[in-house]
Amino acid sequence: MRIDIITIFPDYFAPLDLSLLGKARESGILDIRLHDLRTWTHDRHNTVDDTPCGGGPGMVMKPEPWGEALDAVTGDAPAGAEEATPRLILPTPSGAGFTQKHAERLSGEPWLVFACGRYEGIDARVAEEAARHMPVEELSIGDYVLAGGESATLVMVETVSRLLPGVLGNTASAQEDSFASGGMDSLLEGPVYTRPTSWRGHDVPPVLLSGDHGAVERWRRDESLRKTARNRPELLRAAPEGEFGRRDQE
Ligand code: SAM
Repeated sequence: MRIDIITIFPDYFAPLDLSLLGKARESGILDIRLHDLRTWTHDRHNTVDDTPCGGGPGMVMKPEPWGEALDAVTGDAPAGAEEATPRLILPTPSGAGFTQKHAERLSGEPWLVFACGRYEGIDARVAEEAARHMPVEELSIGDYVLAGGESATLVMVETVSRLLPGVLGNTASAQEDSFASGGMDSLLEGPVYTRPTSWRGHDVPPVLLSGDHGAVERWRRDESLRKTARNRPELLRAAPEGEFGRRDQE
């Protein structure tokens, strides 16, 4: 998968060289390209912002550098996939709530472009113009306001990338995660343990050491339901009718 990130702070993305994503980049599974928006400014101060039309506090990102940046970055199709159209992701607190379902869908795309806003956001005409050339999605990582789109982009890139074949050592681990489609669906993952089996007076639940796979699976399901009911009861209420068996509801 190719991912382009346009930002005024390319250094913010140093963590993308680490761990699973770093390895995926080295092995060629992930082709992440960082672009400094100021490359597409033409004044002495490399200005990317201006005062908001209509007045009010703060500054707004100017459309011209963004237009030129998107033209340059998206005009550069990946080798062997000339017809591939990128999908533009605009992180914004006013976007649709980003979930594991978005990550699963986006992990099937060949090419994503992230545009990191700063200040009061990007002039709205940039999204309008981009939508004439490619699919555009506004996504929020939560109901709070960050200083910029960089950390939101890191969250989304990491969530999407770990679903790509070959990124996780064991693909089953993503299928058993909280929220995973076809696995946990609307349930959170329950508690997990490793050795030693007894630590500071806390014991691993004996069923996990029993070797009885059916009993382990039933215990995990029960713990998932318990944790979901405790931490996110709205997930259980929103689950489609019949999703949980009679045994689950007892
Ligand atoms: N004035 C904007 C509003 O109230 O919707 C907030 C702008 S915020 C200070 C600057 C940038 O941070 C946004 O353009 C966006 O790129 C990013 N951002 C902030 N919160 C975010 C969130 N919850 N999800 C995704 N991106 C976010």
